[in-house]
Amino acid sequence: YTEEEQTEDYLFKIVLIGESAVGKSNLLSRFARNEFFPNSKSTIGVEFQTQRIEIDGKEIKAQIWDTAGQERFRAVTSAYYRGAVGALIVYDVSRRQTFDSIERWLNELQTHSDMNVVTILIGNKTDLKDGREVSTDEGKTLAEAQGLFFLETSALDSSNVATAFHTVVREIYNILT
Ligand code: GDP
Ligand code: MG
Repeated sequence: YTEEEQTEDYLFKIVLIGESAVGKSNLLSRFARNEFFPNSKSTIGVEFQTQRIEIDGKEIKAQIWDTAGQERFRAVTSAYYRGAVGALIVYDVSRRQTFDSIERWLNELQTHSDMNVVTILIGNKTDLKDGREVSTDEGKTLAEAQGLFFLETSALDSSNVATAFHTVVREIYNILT
């Protein structure tokens, strides 16, 4: 074993999916580095970020994958999903079209993943209060119908961002132990 392998108890691969510009990359940068980019370009993106999270005294490495903008071309590859045990499916509460596409992303996830992936539905950009097109109740209802966890977030003002990632990690941990 390398030194690193001795100290890490678990490694969970978690993928971010959803339409372009819903805030996936900013949710990750807010969570991993407490950074927000007002005019982020979807082409800029790291493959994944690893965050250490402690649960019940166990150290968990959450390896969170972000797209490099390929979702615009509906070309997220199966390699992206391979081995994922968690997923955040993100829509933008100020753009209904991104909410309408959730079932397609869910199908895509189910097609490409070979196990039951712990999935949370995320309605992002709650700070855009005047521009809201999707109500909290609609998000909740869809999540219940599909058996998903649900949270609304804002990568801009940070609300619920850490909770969203922690919820997924905690649930994966509960299933595996
Ligand atoms: P991605 O294509 O899903 O990765 O989306 P990005 O993270 O690149 O975000 C797209 C745009 O939405 C950028 O201009 C971000 O600054 C903006 N954005 C992301 N999250 C939020 C948020 O919570 N609130 C607001 N107001 N804007 C956001
Ligand atoms: Mg992005």
